[in-house]
Amino acid sequence: MKYVVLGSSAAGINGVRELRKLDKDSEIVLISKDKAIYSRCILHHYLSNERNMEQLCFAEQDFADLFRVNWMKGRSCTGIKPEERLVILENGETVSYDKLLIATGSHTFVPPVKNLKKACNVTGFRNIEDVEALKAVAQEAENVIVMGAGLVGIDCAMGFLDLGVKVTLVEMAGWLLSKQLDERAAKTYQDAFERQGIKQYYGVGIAEVVLDEDNRIREAILTDGTRLPCDHVVVTAGVRSNVEFLEGTGIKTSRFGLIYDETGKTSNDNIYGAGDVSGTSPIWPAAVKEGIVAASNMAGVPRKMTDFFASKATMNFLGIPSMSLGDVNSNEDGITAEVRETEDSYKKILHKDGKIVGAVLQGDLAYGGILQQLIARKIDVGKVKKPIFDIDYSDFFHIKENFEFYYESVDRQP
Ligand SMILES: Cc1cc2nc3c(=O)[nH]c(=O)nc-3n(C[C@H](O)[C@H](O)[C@H](O)COP(=O)(O)OP(=O)(O)OC[C@H]3O[C@@H](n4cnc5c(N)ncnc54)[C@H](O)[C@@H]3O)c2cc1C
Repeated sequence: MKYVVLGSSAAGINGVRELRKLDKDSEIVLISKDKAIYSRCILHHYLSNERNMEQLCFAEQDFADLFRVNWMKGRSCTGIKPEERLVILENGETVSYDKLLIATGSHTFVPPVKNLKKACNVTGFRNIEDVEALKAVAQEAENVIVMGAGLVGIDCAMGFLDLGVKVTLVEMAGWLLSKQLDERAAKTYQDAFERQGIKQYYGVGIAEVVLDEDNRIREAILTDGTRLPCDHVVVTAGVRSNVEFLEGTGIKTSRFGLIYDETGKTSNDNIYGAGDVSGTSPIWPAAVKEGIVAASNMAGVPRKMTDFFASKATMNFLGIPSMSLGDVNSNEDGITAEVRETEDSYKKILHKDGKIVGAVLQGDLAYGGILQQLIARKIDVGKVKKPIFDIDYSDFFHIKENFEFYYESVDRQP
C-alpha cells in the first residue's frame, strides 16, 4: 500500500500520524507547498516576534524521520489522474498512490473591490510568507488597513499592535467577530481596541482603492464615501478552498470546497479529504479530527465523524476572554435569550424547546464546560427547576448500576 497526503498542516500531519500508527510498513509520501510545519492559529505571535519559526511548529521536530514519511516540501500538486492513481506536481513530475488524502486547506480570496487585484501592496494572513511580508510592512507602513474583523483579522490587528502599529479595521458586518459574538460582547472588545488606538469601521466595506503610478494603494474609499489614507491592505475577509487542481477530474466539489462523507471519503473510493478544504468547518480541532478519521478509514480501520461539536470558539484579546458556543445570534422563532451581567462578566444563553442552542460567555468562562456538554448532548434543561446559569453536572450526570456514565436531566424537585 502507498499513501499520499497533500498538505502538511492540522489535517495532513494528523493524518500521517494516524496512518503510521495503524500501518507500520506501508510507504507514506507527504506533499506540501509549506516548507515547514507551523500552526496558523498563532501566526500573530510570529508577526509580533513573540515566537520564532521553531516555536510555531506543532509537530515533533524530527516528524518526517519519526513517522518514516517521505516529505516533499515546497512542492505543489497541480492535478490528479484518478484513473491512473497519479498526483501531478508543478514541474510535471508524477507521484503514484493507492490511497490519497487531500488536506490542502484554503487560500485568501481577494474580493472584487475596484483596483484591489491590481495593487501590489496587498497581503493575506494565512501563510508564513504572508507574515514575512507583513513584518517588513510593519517597519515602515503608517496606515495599514485590515479588511475583515473576524478571528483572522483580529489576530492580525493584535500582532501589529504588539509591534506598536495601530491598524484600521474595516468590517462589513455591524460588529467585530460577528460569527462568534453578539453585539454586546463585541462592544467590549471594540471599546478596548479603541482605547489602544485601533480605528474601526463597521457596517461598511472598501468600495475602491486608489493607486499611484506604481500600483501602490494610497487611499481606500469606503462604501459610505469615507476616505482613509492607506499604504497597505491585509485581506482577511474571505477564503476559498484549495481545490483548483481537481478541475476536470470528476471528483465532486461544492461551491464551498471538496465534498466527502463522515468517513472522509470523496466521490472517488481511493481519495479522501479532511480539514478546511471542505470549506464547511474551518477550525483547527475539526481539521485534526477529520485528518485522523480519514486516515483511519484509508488504513482499513472504520471510523466516523460523529460526535463533533464544531461551532465553538474561545478567544482572549487584550486580556479579555470569551467563549462562543453554537449560534449566538439566532433569531429563529421560539428562541428565548437569557442574559446575566456583572461589572466584569457577560453571559447570554439561547434556548428553544428546553435545548440550549447557543451561548456567549465573556470575562468569566467557568460555565463553559457545562454548557458544552448541555449543547453537545442536547440535554433537556427544561426539566431542571433552577436558573439556566446555575445548572451543574449533578443535574444531568448519572451513573448506572453497572457504573456506566449517562447524561440526562432529571427533575429533582419533589
Ligand atoms: C491567522 C489564523 C488564525 C487562526 N486561528 C484559529 C484559532 O484560534 N482556532 C481555530 O480553531 N482555528 C484557527 N484558524 C483556522 C485553522 O488554522 C485552520 O482550521 C487549520 O489550519 C486548517 O488546517 P488544514 O490542515 O485543513 O489546512 P491548512 O492549515 O490551510 O493547510 C493546508 C496545507 O496544504 C498545503 N497545500 C495547499 N495547496 C496545496 C497544493 N496544491 N499542493 C500541495 N500542498 C498544498 C499547504 O502548504 C498547507 O500545508 C486560524 C487560521 C488562520 C489563518
